[in-house]
Amino acid sequence: MGIFDYAPAPESRALANLKEHYKPFINGQFVDGSGEPLKTINPATEETLAEVGTASVSDVDTAVKAARKAYTSVWSKMPGAERAKYLFRIARLIQERSRELAVLETLDNGKPIKESRDSDVPTAAAHFFYHAGWADKLGYAGYGPDPKPLGVAGQVIPWNFPLLMLAWKIAPALATGNTVVLKPAETTPLTALVFAEICQQAELPPGVVNILPGAGDIGASLVAHPDVDKIAFTGSTEVGKLIQRTVAGTRKKLTLELGGKAANIVFDDAPLDQAVEGIVNGIFFNQGHVCCAGSRLLVQESVAGEVLEKLRYRVSTLRVGDPLDKNTDLGAINSAEQLAKIRGLVESGDAEGAQRWTSPCPVPDRGFFFAPTVFSEVHQSMRIAREEIFGPVLSVLTFRTPDEAVAKANNTPYGLSAGIWSEKGSRILWTANQLRAGVVWANTFNRFDPAAPFGGYQESGFGREGGRTGLEGYLDV
Ligand code: NDP
Repeated sequence: MGIFDYAPAPESRALANLKEHYKPFINGQFVDGSGEPLKTINPATEETLAEVGTASVSDVDTAVKAARKAYTSVWSKMPGAERAKYLFRIARLIQERSRELAVLETLDNGKPIKESRDSDVPTAAAHFFYHAGWADKLGYAGYGPDPKPLGVAGQVIPWNFPLLMLAWKIAPALATGNTVVLKPAETTPLTALVFAEICQQAELPPGVVNILPGAGDIGASLVAHPDVDKIAFTGSTEVGKLIQRTVAGTRKKLTLELGGKAANIVFDDAPLDQAVEGIVNGIFFNQGHVCCAGSRLLVQESVAGEVLEKLRYRVSTLRVGDPLDKNTDLGAINSAEQLAKIRGLVESGDAEGAQRWTSPCPVPDRGFFFAPTVFSEVHQSMRIAREEIFGPVLSVLTFRTPDEAVAKANNTPYGLSAGIWSEKGSRILWTANQLRAGVVWANTFNRFDPAAPFGGYQESGFGREGGRTGLEGYLDV
C-alpha cells in the first residue's frame, strides 16, 4: 500500500502575533533586562524570529525581591478561594489565546502544530484548572489542616515543552501560595513571555510571577540566590547535579525532573498493531525530545521479527517537515547543538555494530531535521542503549523471559518511566511491580494528566509534579 499524497495544510504564521522585541517580566512590568539580548530562531528555517532582552545577575536580584514583596504583602495572605480565581482566569486566558500560543510554540521550538495545538497548550490550561481547584482545599490534601507555602520559588525549565513545563511549575506554586521567578530555556523564551502578558490580563498582583529569559548562568544565579526558598528544575541530569550541589546545606527545598532512558517492553501476547502505535508515539512524539520517551524498545524474541517489520513500515509513513503543516508528524530538532548531539550518538551506534534503519521519508534541506531512525541488534553496553539521545532514534533490544525483560529495563542509571504491552493483567502488574521507574504505562505510552504525579528515581531526579503528591514540593511539610 502506498502513502497518501497530502496537500499542504499550513497554519498561518500570522496567528503568532510575533513581535520584533520581547522583554523580561519583573514586578508586573516588561522591563529592559541588563543582560546581552539574544536572538531566538525558528529551527525549521534557521531564520531569526525575534530579539529577546535577557536578565543579568542584578535583574535576578530585583525579581527575587519583587517576588518576596508580593509573597509577604499579598499572595501568602490571600485566601485560597481568591488565589483560585486568578488561576481559573489564567487557565481560561490560555484557552482563549490557544491558537496564538500553539503557533508561537511551534515557531520557536520546531514541534509539529498538531502537537502544540492538541497536546501542549490544552494540557498547560488543564494544569491551571486542576491546581485552581486545589487552592482552597489545601487543608484536605493530607498535609494537615493549614499547610503553609514555602515563599519564593525559583524555577528553571527546558526547551522541549516550553509552555507546558512552565504550567507544571507555576500552577502548583501559585495554588499553594508561593510566588515565582522562572527562567525559560535560552532557545524557547517566547511563549513564557506571552504567558507574562496573560498574567497582566488576569490582573495578577505584580511580583507574583516574574519571567527572566537568559542563559544557563541566569538559571545558576537564581538557584544560588539566598532569598529563594524552593528550586524546581527540569532538564539534563548533568545540570541537575550541579543544582543539587549548590542547594546542598541550604534551607531550599528542591525538586529535580531530569533525564530518562525508558524501557518500552513488548511481550509476545501483546496486541502487536496497538503496541506498534504505542512504540511510535513513545519515541517519535515531539521528535523524541521527551524526558520520558520510550527510547529503549525491549521486545520478546519470538515476536521481534514481526514487530520490527510492522514498526519499520509504520515509521516509514511518518511525515517529517514544516512544523506549521497540520499533516506533519515530526517537526524540527530544536537546535543545531541538539542535532549534532543526536548525530554523534547515532554514529556511535554504527561504530559499535548496531543495525541502523532510517526512514526513507523526504527531509527538508533547510533547518534542523533528523529522519526517524530505528537501531536493531542493540546490546546493553552500547551508548545508544545507555545514554539519553533526546531525538527520534529508537534502540531495539530483545529478551526471552519476563525476568530478563525486567533486568534489562532496570539496567540504567535513570528511572523516569516505562511501558508494558501485554494482554495479561497479571503479567502487567507483576512487571510494573518490578520496574524501578516513576511512571509505568500499560498498553499505552506518553499519557499525561494534571491529576497524576510525575517524577523519577535515581538519576531521573526526585520529587513529584502533578496530583495531590505534587503539592508537597511547594508546601512546608
Ligand atoms: P539543560 O539541562 O542545560 O537546560 C535546562 C535548563 O537549565 C535551561 O533553561 C538552561 O538554560 C538551564 N541551565 C543550564 N545550565 C544551568 C545551570 N548551571 N544552573 C541552572 N540552570 C541552568 O539542558 P540542555 O538544553 O543543554 O540539553 C542538554 C541535554 O539534556 C539534552 O540533549 C537532553 O538529553 C537533556 N534534556 C533533558 C530534558 C528533560 O526534560 N529531562 C529537557 C532538556 C534537555 P539554557 O537554555 O540557557 O541553557
